[in-house]
Amino acid sequence: MSLDIPERGHELILSEIVSMLNSKSDVGLSESEASARLVKYGANEIQTKKPSIWRLYFAPLFDTLIVIYLIITGIMVLFALIAALGFIEDVGFLGKTVFWLVIISFNIIMAIYQQYRAQKQLAALQQLTSPKSKVVRNGNVIEISSQDLVPGDLIELELGNKIPADCRVITSSNLTVNEASLTGESIPVAKVEDGSHRIDIDASIAQHFNMLYLGTFVQTGTAKAIIVRTGNFTEIGKIATAMSEMHTFDIPLRNRVNKLGKLLGITMIVFLLVIFSNTTINRLSTGDNYTLDTFSQDMVISIINAMAVMPINIPLMTTLVLITGVLHMAQKKVIIKELSSVETLGRISVLCSDKTGTITTSKMTSKLVWDTETFYTIYPDSNTHVSLSPIPESEIIHTLEDQDYNYEDIRDIEKGSSLELLLTTAILNNEANLVRKKEEHYNEEYFEIIGNPTDGALLLLGSSHGLQEEYLRKRYQKLKSYPFDSQVKRMSGLFKDVEDNDLMVFCKGATEVLLPRCDFIGNEENRKPLDQTEKDSIQEKVDFYANEDYRVISLAYKSIEGQTSTSVELEDRESIETNLTFIGFTIIYDPPRPGVKEAVAQLDKAGIFPIMITGDSPATAATIARQVGILDPHETVAEGKMASVLKDEDFFKVAVFARVSPADKEIIVRSYQAKGGIVAMTGDGVNDALAITKSDAGIAMGTTGTEVAKEASDIIIADDSYISIVNGVYEGRNLYERIRIMIFFYIAVNLAEAIFYFVTSLDDSYEVLNNFQRTYIFTIVHGLPIFAVIYGKFDEEIMSLKPRDNDDLIPSRMLIGLLVYSIILGLSILAVFFMYYQSPDLVNSFNQDGIARNIQFQPSSETLDFEEKFLAEDLAHAKARTMLLSVIYLSECTLILSIRRINIGIFDSIRNHTDRFMLVMAFGPIVLHLVLMYITPIQVGMLDLGLTVELIRLSFLDIGVVFIFALLPIFFLELFKWFNRRAGNQF
Ligand code: ADP
Ligand code: MG
Repeated sequence: MSLDIPERGHELILSEIVSMLNSKSDVGLSESEASARLVKYGANEIQTKKPSIWRLYFAPLFDTLIVIYLIITGIMVLFALIAALGFIEDVGFLGKTVFWLVIISFNIIMAIYQQYRAQKQLAALQQLTSPKSKVVRNGNVIEISSQDLVPGDLIELELGNKIPADCRVITSSNLTVNEASLTGESIPVAKVEDGSHRIDIDASIAQHFNMLYLGTFVQTGTAKAIIVRTGNFTEIGKIATAMSEMHTFDIPLRNRVNKLGKLLGITMIVFLLVIFSNTTINRLSTGDNYTLDTFSQDMVISIINAMAVMPINIPLMTTLVLITGVLHMAQKKVIIKELSSVETLGRISVLCSDKTGTITTSKMTSKLVWDTETFYTIYPDSNTHVSLSPIPESEIIHTLEDQDYNYEDIRDIEKGSSLELLLTTAILNNEANLVRKKEEHYNEEYFEIIGNPTDGALLLLGSSHGLQEEYLRKRYQKLKSYPFDSQVKRMSGLFKDVEDNDLMVFCKGATEVLLPRCDFIGNEENRKPLDQTEKDSIQEKVDFYANEDYRVISLAYKSIEGQTSTSVELEDRESIETNLTFIGFTIIYDPPRPGVKEAVAQLDKAGIFPIMITGDSPATAATIARQVGILDPHETVAEGKMASVLKDEDFFKVAVFARVSPADKEIIVRSYQAKGGIVAMTGDGVNDALAITKSDAGIAMGTTGTEVAKEASDIIIADDSYISIVNGVYEGRNLYERIRIMIFFYIAVNLAEAIFYFVTSLDDSYEVLNNFQRTYIFTIVHGLPIFAVIYGKFDEEIMSLKPRDNDDLIPSRMLIGLLVYSIILGLSILAVFFMYYQSPDLVNSFNQDGIARNIQFQPSSETLDFEEKFLAEDLAHAKARTMLLSVIYLSECTLILSIRRINIGIFDSIRNHTDRFMLVMAFGPIVLHLVLMYITPIQVGMLDLGLTVELIRLSFLDIGVVFIFALLPIFFLELFKWFNRRAGNQF
């Protein structure tokens, strides 16, 4: 496609670029123009070659188990062929082979379907994590998905932003950009203050100080820039073919399950070989003729026995559980970026969380202003709806009543007053934007805050009290800004006052940081030196409010006369921000989120230690932490810098770290990890990325988080809420539990059946089960009850368990329980089978009704009396098989009830944790079994179709025997569970 947009850009002067792009460097594009360009240039995304259908859908299917199955089936096909050609005697090879091929194909088709669904849904998930950008359209700053950006768009960038397209700097302040992803250089590159200059056309990308490139990110500072190229036209887009594809089909937990599959596969082959060599030895020792015929028959029997007991479904089911689970979590605002983190999240033992916006609402409201003389109370009734109506009683702030202070409402703001200066500082040195919105229903206008909520509260404060904002914005022109970061806890702006023709520094930040930088107090007209006693008295006032859990922002300024702006701009940040004049403070209320207290209580029960981390003062932090239950009486509050100094016994008592800088976070993570803790850490800033990466479950905030923090994280919390994080832990625990129980079930039942098939194969005179009976087990009792686990209700009490102390899929304690069940069930079914198989006299008259009359027996010799001899014997065989199937059905369905809530007793589980869905799934197979057994016409109909399930009617007594043998293994499993519960062990 031919482009009318600049191919490079750095070699042009700014005005040339802007005119080439047909845009305006102040108001940007119009919405209609932007949509037209979106059509013309396409979405701002890099389109890589789609991975081939083969890699996407087929390659992941070939987990070890399926491959082993296919190879073995291949051998069977070979036998079937040889038999068909007449080289060996055909004993129904073809039928058996087709049967297994059908079962495997069914699995593969299901897997492909699941993979397809997963792919679609994961793509939708990725959409959710897609970045947003601030763009100026029609002169308004709005936030849109970065995909919708077009060439010519004007964007605003601040620290932590990922650069969404290739663009040209228009203006910038303190801008440094990390271009490691493009140039490999990890030291941030300073981009010029003013992007209007051209740069030599041959300069390398690293020298393009006037351009910003897609994929890099803002390390410090702010900028306005105009987009030159988007999507595949960008520098990175051009080399997109070299970029890796998105590996959405790589599911880490599945890899672990695959490993388990490998183990099972090897077990199967060993099993197969043992059966086979056994029959061979038998044959040779009994002096049987050993021919190609017998060899192939033995081989096929061994293969079938081995295949019948393999849990081929495990990998498929794992994917199913993970995908449905992760989607459910996304609906609950927990976006899992890395599927393996579902498990980690469910396993955490320490949750370190930011205060602001996570534990609190971040709907900040300024409640009070002190201009060094007067306190002003403020009446906006909420963060977004500005009105001057009286505030409700409950919202009235606590005041320093015992002292004799002046409290006034803000009425008019006089020009040149100290209040005006204070508000000017607050709104001009500010990185939030207000967008005027209309509430359709009530037809009310309100402001929505975009950007930093603290700044937003201050902006709202200024805008809603008749401040001559427009005039002030014209009067002070911003030359440079020194942005906020939680390390320095303050931000400043350098302005040119066009009226007085001097330079102004407006500064705001934490009081304890600002006060030492102030030498004066007051304003332009009335300025006095600030001594230590007065500083202490100010700090005292501030502490009073901090103790009442308010966030206090202090403000200061400096006027610089007789210097050129360029010489001042060259000074470093430190000297700009000294020798200031203190002009007051404002207190901001950020209420705790409703529900956090309950969430913290859940964590306590779940054995997870909640830690609050904040840049705010210890007093504010402690008050909020106490309110929500994070800070208990025996726990302590420490400043972040103490993290590296405290002794272990003191360190692990700290529930609140205040005045934390990002580096402290990393120390906190490391200290807990050294003690074997699994740590979740939340973060939002650029500097948080390291702590997020180091933690076991790195969590980024979806709303306030920077792109860099999001990229470093495994999990994104869409609504920033603490409650969602705790919910995520709940869901994570449940998902992992589902997978473990599912694996437990499949291995347990298959192992029990393997024991049975193995023993019966030792003597080939037994006709154990026919193909259809095997399918009857495979599809129904292995297929349905497990849905009670996979789709059933979550375990609501899972948060009363302690965090798991290992990450084994089946830890040893669980394995013992599994073996207890499987071995006893294996022995039970062997006992039942042998008991009835050899005893025609155990066939009662009741058994001979129903389907028994229709069973087609085939005497092997014409001379024998069919009616008398065979009927009795075959009925005994049929009864043995029916008893066997009945015990398997009853026991395996009950197993689900026993392990679905593996940490409580089965009766408790049945009484308190069942619902209709799970009952239908768990008992449906038993009902079906009884229906088939007693409603004869159904079986007769099936016989006509060649489906020989052959269940004969069991009498009451028989059923009693079934109960005993079926529930024996359950009884021992429950006993084992009970002992462990009593010992306080947890599965
Ligand atoms: P947290 O996010 O944990 O509440 P921050 O690191 O954001 O803490 O803030 C630390 C301190 O810096 C706050 O107590 C406040 O005094 C100050 N501060 C926070 N935001 C701003 C801002 N936008 N402008 C100036 N000062 C700020
Ligand atoms: Mg913050």
